[in-house]
Amino acid sequence: MVTGGGKSAIFSVPILILREMARNPRLYPDLPTRALPQGIVVMPTKGLAANIVLESNKFDIPAFAYCHESITEARKTRRNLVNEIRERKTWNVVCVDPEHLRDKAWREIAAYELYRANILYGCVDEVRLINQWGANFRPLFRYVGPFFRGRLPSSTSIFALSATLQPGSATKSVCRSLGLFGNDFFLFRSSSQRHNTQFIMEPLQNGVGGRIFPQLFDYLNSRRKAVIHCRTIDDVLRGPHRLRHLKMYHSLRSSADKEILRLVDEDPECQKQLAASSNPDSAPRKRSETVKPLEHAKTLVLTEKVCYNAVINGIYENPPLDTSTLDCIAAGRRLPCSLCATRNNTSLVFSAPAFSPGVELPLFVHPPAADPIATLDKALRLKKEREHAESAERVRENGPPGRT
Ligand SMILES: [Zn+2]
Repeated sequence: MVTGGGKSAIFSVPILILREMARNPRLYPDLPTRALPQGIVVMPTKGLAANIVLESNKFDIPAFAYCHESITEARKTRRNLVNEIRERKTWNVVCVDPEHLRDKAWREIAAYELYRANILYGCVDEVRLINQWGANFRPLFRYVGPFFRGRLPSSTSIFALSATLQPGSATKSVCRSLGLFGNDFFLFRSSSQRHNTQFIMEPLQNGVGGRIFPQLFDYLNSRRKAVIHCRTIDDVLRGPHRLRHLKMYHSLRSSADKEILRLVDEDPECQKQLAASSNPDSAPRKRSETVKPLEHAKTLVLTEKVCYNAVINGIYENPPLDTSTLDCIAAGRRLPCSLCATRNNTSLVFSAPAFSPGVELPLFVHPPAADPIATLDKALRLKKEREHAESAERVRENGPPGRT
C-alpha cells in the first residue's frame, strides 16, 4: 500500500466496528463480538508509533506507544502498564517495537484471559523490515511472527503492511516468518505509485563527503516545506542544520521529534527538515562487516535510461501493469520523471507559497570561496604559513627569485 494510502484506517476501522457491535449486540446476533476490542501494532520506529497514536486519536480510538520512554515515565508515576493494557480499559490500540514485544510483560498480557477474549488483531507495520533488519540489525523482528502465532488466540487476525515490499522471494520470506502459508491468507497488492510526487535523479556535482551541496539550493530556496533525507546521522550533522529554519528528525528517537513534526506542520519559519534514515545501513558498521552488494532493484533504477517511474512500477509490479510500465509521457503522468521530462522538453514550476506576515527567511547562498590555506588542517596550515613567511623574508632580503 502506498505511503499515505490510509493505513490508519486499517488499524482503526475494525476497532470502530467491534465497538459498535459491542454497544448494540442485539443488532448483530450471529456475529462474534468483543466487549473492549484490542489491537497490537508492531512498529519499527518510535516516530511511526507516535504517528499511529496521533491518527488513532483522531478517530476517537485511544492508542498508546509502548516504548522505552513511556515505560520509564510509567515507572516514575507508579503506573502499572501491564495491568492497564490487559484490563483493556485505557486503550484500544497499543503500538510496540519488536524488542519490547519480547519482554516478560507481553507474555503476561497475552496470557491474560480477559485480554485474550478481546484481542482482535496483531499487525506488523513496515513488514519488509523482517527481511532487512531481522537478518542482523534488529534480529527480534524475526520473533514477531512466532509471538503472534504462539501467544495470541488462533481467532486473532494477523496482518502486515508495507509500501515497499517486492514481490517474489522478499514477500515469500515475510509470509513464512509470519506463518502465512499456502491459501490460508490473502495478499492484497495495491499500487505504490505516488501520483503527487515527481521523481528526479541528479548525479552529485560535489563530493558526498563535503559540507556544501549547491545542487540543493534551488530546492531549499523554493520557500516550500522540504524534507532532506540523509543516509546517516553523520551526514545530517555535516549539513546546514544549524540555521534556524532547519530541524533534524530521526524516526528512532521519540518525544523531541514529535515537536519537530508539529513545527514542520504548523510553524511557517520551519521550512526544512533534515531526516536521518532509519535504514540499517546508517548504523555504525563493525570493522569485520563487509560492504553489502547493491540490491538488484536499486541497480535497475540507477542505470535506467528511459523512465524511472516505469522501472519502479515494474519492480513492485504496481497494477495495472499494462499502463504502469509505460513511460510517463505515454502513461500521461501529471508529474513526469526527470528522464521523461528532459526527453519531452518539459519543465515544471512549483509556485512558492506566501509567507505569513512578518516572516522573512534568508535565502541559502553559495559561501564565498574559501582561502585554500584556511581549509587545511591546523598543523598543515601553520606549516604553510611559516613557509609563506620565510619565502616573503627571502624575497625582502634577496629580491624576487630568478633575478641575479
Ligand atoms: Zn518517466
